[in-house]
Amino acid sequence: MTDAFDADAIVVGSGFGGAVAAARLAQAGFSVIVVERGRRWAPGEFPRRPRLEDGWLWDVGRGLYDIRWLGRMGSVHGAGWGGGSLVYANVFARPSEEALDERWPAHLRRAELDPYYDLAAHMMGVAPVGDDPRTGRPPARTALVERLIHDMAMSEATVRPNLAVTFGDPDTWRPNAHEVPRRGCAFVGECVIGCNHGAKNTLDTTYLAVAERCGARAVTDAEVRRIEPRRGGYAVIAATPSDPRAAERVWSAPRVVLAAGSVATTELLLRSRDVHGTLPSLSRHLGEGFSGNGDFLTLAELRDSQQDMTTGPTITTNTVLDVPEGRRPVWFQVQDGTFPPPLHALFDTVLPARAARAWWRRKVRHTTPRHLFTVLAMGRDSANGTLRLDRSGKATLSWRNRWQGHLYRSQLRVGPLLARLLDARLYHPVTWSLLRRTITVHALGGVRSGRDATTGVVDEAGEVHGYPGLFVMDGSVLPAATGVNPSATILAAAERSIETMIRRSGRPGWRAPEWHAVSPTEVPEDAAFAFMSQRHALTKGDGIVFTEHLSTEHRRPRVAMTLTAEIPGLDRFLTDPAHPIPMRGVIEVEGVTSHTEVGGTLSLFPDGDQAAMSYALRFDDPDGRPWHLRGTKTVRSRTPMALLTGLTHLHVEIRPGDAASGDGESCVLAIGFRDLLRLGSSLAGVGFTRARRLRAVLRFATFFATSALRHGTSSSPPQSHTTAGPDTFR
Ligand SMILES: Cc1cc2nc3c(=O)[nH]c(=O)nc-3n(C[C@H](O)[C@H](O)[C@H](O)COP(=O)(O)OP(=O)(O)OC[C@H]3O[C@@H](n4cnc5c(N)ncnc54)[C@H](O)[C@@H]3O)c2cc1C
Repeated sequence: MTDAFDADAIVVGSGFGGAVAAARLAQAGFSVIVVERGRRWAPGEFPRRPRLEDGWLWDVGRGLYDIRWLGRMGSVHGAGWGGGSLVYANVFARPSEEALDERWPAHLRRAELDPYYDLAAHMMGVAPVGDDPRTGRPPARTALVERLIHDMAMSEATVRPNLAVTFGDPDTWRPNAHEVPRRGCAFVGECVIGCNHGAKNTLDTTYLAVAERCGARAVTDAEVRRIEPRRGGYAVIAATPSDPRAAERVWSAPRVVLAAGSVATTELLLRSRDVHGTLPSLSRHLGEGFSGNGDFLTLAELRDSQQDMTTGPTITTNTVLDVPEGRRPVWFQVQDGTFPPPLHALFDTVLPARAARAWWRRKVRHTTPRHLFTVLAMGRDSANGTLRLDRSGKATLSWRNRWQGHLYRSQLRVGPLLARLLDARLYHPVTWSLLRRTITVHALGGVRSGRDATTGVVDEAGEVHGYPGLFVMDGSVLPAATGVNPSATILAAAERSIETMIRRSGRPGWRAPEWHAVSPTEVPEDAAFAFMSQRHALTKGDGIVFTEHLSTEHRRPRVAMTLTAEIPGLDRFLTDPAHPIPMRGVIEVEGVTSHTEVGGTLSLFPDGDQAAMSYALRFDDPDGRPWHLRGTKTVRSRTPMALLTGLTHLHVEIRPGDAASGDGESCVLAIGFRDLLRLGSSLAGVGFTRARRLRAVLRFATFFATSALRHGTSSSPPQSHTTAGPDTFR
């Protein structure tokens, strides 16, 4: 540092980006000042009383939550030493590489950032939720979601995400990896209102603790208002929020890292360019690329339940969905969340008709705040909002987010589905019900990178084009929605940027000292993404299910079987020339087995085959001996009678899998009149919406009718009633 400056570097904001910058700069030997507008919050100090004056809002006594109304969207931020980590839900997630489109430059993609994610995971101490130490079981909400998804045969779509939380003994304080005392999580579900128990691995207990230990100077209660070039570096000019009449404070340094969060950083730069004129050469792209990360919040309330939905950390599960919406697929994820009772009490106090609402809840709905939980969906919005300044110099958002409509429509379908499956009531925030405006807790973008000022505001290390030494390292540099909770990406990107910055400042081989202790962290969400994208390919075009019952009726040997057919995706089914349908069910074969599981494939109107339908099934007798059933249905002419007879009579041969062909039985199974009606009524579409299910049924019916007629004209009698069916048994 030269005498002309107060420090080697100034970091503005102590959230995710700022904390990384402060820690690494201090470890690299720079003198650092971290300027934060909010206060420090220690365990036990977070607001709990149902009064706004208790420190809930930044605008009411410089409290914890800063809620910004940006015109087209609300945006929620944490304020204080530790930024968003003070109020966040601890989820440490990586976006799927598939979710990153061409707007994501190579330096922000998984291949480049994965080692930095691992480094950040190590620093934050992440792990998925386990059992509640007081009950020995997972939280009720976690179990509820996991059971639901299991019942929907999608278990792999749900994972327990990594959380930056200390788990273990909730009663004993122990130093974490950064020598800060932490206790094990008490499963009280209050992460998002600040953890009074001391179990969250917030930034003040991780990166910022490292920064301060290495000499960084923390200045809280200082809100930076503008940046101006000074003596080859920059001056940072701040007001004192607790005392508006206090004189402005000024610090200067050759390097300044802006990390005030997407909205505040963009606003600060816009003001410096357009109001104060101190940074006039900032790119004209400043403010572009704003994203709300596709956030959509719904509140669910279980009816008639004894279960407490408020235990556990705030978020415990993450479900990845990849569903068709209109003509394109929409991908998003859904997370359960607590609605902390103290927050409920606060809403009760500030909203009108408190007594009437309490009566209604108790007497009519029979619910308590413990039956409420949040359902937070997030995904890829268009990320092409633009932050500008309004007349008073405050950030406001302009956005014609058409793609967003698509995403929200899809996300909105999850609510009714959950309501039906869980027997829950749903509530949307009033901003949505009345104004069709969403609230984001994951504001991103505004300061995207580019080769030069004509394409972006900063370069790939976050250095502002035209202003050497001025850097941006927070959510504003992410070019689009991550579609997952973004703090891990902000940390990883900041780790990479600060490493580059330190190396550019004359320490070419510099690495963070913790690298030696870092090992690859498990990424639970990757498995869910992979499962869902596979399932998406399989279920394209939506599916069909039906059940049929066939039997020899009164003839001997008596054979009967009930089979359920499930086509997962019609697109695949129709393009495969064999038109295969997986079948499962039970079979009874006189003298062989009485009620046994059977499975295999039905080839429905296979292209170029004489048979209209070929069955290849397999079952085991009670001694474990495998048996094969092969059968065909054949249509001999187009007359209605011939069609009906051909399609309802199955000529089968049943043989033991290990015997000579002579040991088999041949017979004809038929679908009786009543069973035919039952078959028709069992036919159902499988899809995300009623319209899609109906469309699937119509598509299948059209295929069935045209194929049946075609087979009726082209068929000649089969050579034998045991025409080979598909030769794969499943
Ligand atoms: C309720 C809630 C739950 C969330 N849960 C998750 C989650 O589970 N996982 C996840 O990944 N993300 C979550 N997030 C989002 C996450 O908190 C943000 O993405 C993240 O905090 C953004 O990091 P940042 O570095 O960009 O800025 P921030 O963390 O917002 O830090 C900015 C800091 O700068 C300070 N500041 C602002 N303006 C000035 C100024 N002019 N002068 C000085 N200081 C200033 C602020 O007070 C703040 O401390 C959640 C957010 C909320 C609100």
